[in-house]
Amino acid sequence: MKTIDKIYINGAFITPQGTDTFELISPTTNMVIGKVRLGNEEDTRNAIAAAKAALPAFSKTSKEERIQYLRQLQEAVAKKKEEMIKVMIAEYGGTLQFSRISIQFAIGNFSEAIKTLQDFEFERIVGSSKVRLEPVGVAGVITPWNANIGFITGKLATAIAAGVTTVIKPSEMSALQTQVLLEALHEAGLPAGVFNIVNGLGHVVGAELTRHPDIAKISFTGSTVTGKTIARGAVDTMKRVTLELGGKSPNILLDDADLTKAIPLAVAAAYTNSGQACIAATRLLVPEKLLNEVKTLVKTTVEQLKVGDPAQEDTVVGPMVSKKQWERVQSYIKLGLEEGAELLVGGVGQPAGLEAGNFVKPTVFVNVRNDMRIAREEIFGPVLSIISYKNEEEALQIANDTDYGLSGYVSSGSEERALKIAAQINAGRVMVNGFKHDPQAPFGGFKQSGIGREFGVYGLQTFLEPKTILL
Ligand code: NAD
Repeated sequence: MKTIDKIYINGAFITPQGTDTFELISPTTNMVIGKVRLGNEEDTRNAIAAAKAALPAFSKTSKEERIQYLRQLQEAVAKKKEEMIKVMIAEYGGTLQFSRISIQFAIGNFSEAIKTLQDFEFERIVGSSKVRLEPVGVAGVITPWNANIGFITGKLATAIAAGVTTVIKPSEMSALQTQVLLEALHEAGLPAGVFNIVNGLGHVVGAELTRHPDIAKISFTGSTVTGKTIARGAVDTMKRVTLELGGKSPNILLDDADLTKAIPLAVAAAYTNSGQACIAATRLLVPEKLLNEVKTLVKTTVEQLKVGDPAQEDTVVGPMVSKKQWERVQSYIKLGLEEGAELLVGGVGQPAGLEAGNFVKPTVFVNVRNDMRIAREEIFGPVLSIISYKNEEEALQIANDTDYGLSGYVSSGSEERALKIAAQINAGRVMVNGFKHDPQAPFGGFKQSGIGREFGVYGLQTFLEPKTILL
């Protein structure tokens, strides 16, 4: 049982003014494994003041100095790699397979920011004018629980590359993971106030960041509902916002795809991070004539997946982060049945022998219509909807008939065909033949999946304001 009773302001671990506490519960056993003391509005204001005080000097640092800071951060964080993987499994229930990849990306965020920074021109000539890209001001960073360390390092690395100071509010459910990361970030020895971390609730610490006039920008990852609340609140002080929100991503299987490869990839893309992934490919669109074959292959693939203890090497689907999230996923499985979808595999309840934790049976529905709620709403669990289509035109119509637009997937034996389809999917990222990541390419959503982009040059620009100087 670990107690986290400090927040991080102005380079020091301090006791928050807030006195409320929040229990940290293992998703695998539902036992209490820790407790976090939550910061309040006053703590948030103190953190903002520290970031504001650090901004004048930090915003004037050179590219070389920022690169040096990023190296120090990467080195310190990399030393905690194994500890971070362990705490991600324990607190969040991330599988060992996923946690390893996630933490590797989290560490890589610093070197990616260095790469971006090395070639970035902060001063350019545009037309006949000089354009300077200046740090936007103090940024508020608000992150979710589903890859806590990666989201924090990604946003922090970009802010540092831009010369921006930050106040970070992680999910209250990620306090143990945040603590391990924070110890590493502190070790890196950056100037006081450049980054500050306040544990706390969304409607307390997050809301104060959203309304405070000294915060110039909010970089948020989380649900679309919360993203809208933040955007509404942020407009009063005209904050810049980058919002990375939810998804209901389509995976279009073309009739020339090699099903023996495409189906395991489709299942993996749907169940990545135990289905708790914004980019999960949760709608599999299948040519009508291949439906029977696809059903057989999907059923066999899903039945072979290991569900259970996230710490074990071969576990593919771990527990849901919380009892509440488990109940939410259960309610969607019930809803799918009520809506008349056909259950191919899985269903309500816990898998046998896994009753102690928040485990869900990996579930697949077939004969799903795109107007059913299970095809329209983000479930955030291992639930896949298979929808059949008659021709490519209909496949694209179904794929794009969604409020979201974070990712899309295409499986085909022909790259040319896949590219043609990819060009017509309305999403910020489209992956061809599998689950891919490019840390330099822009990441973000069309439509209600968000505003703005992260990573690489596109991400860096969201922390900068262009100033035109006319001579
Ligand atoms: P959430 O929106 O409930 O919470 C995210 C963060 O916002 C937390 O730190 C929370 O405390 C804070 N928050 C809550 N209410 C707030 C308020 N009123 N003002 C300010 N902050 C507030 O999301 P979650 O349940 O933690 O995460 C799951 C969601 O995140 C899913 O919808 C998922 O799709 C989305 N997500 C998106 C991406 C992406 O990159 N697009 C990545 C991962 C997760």
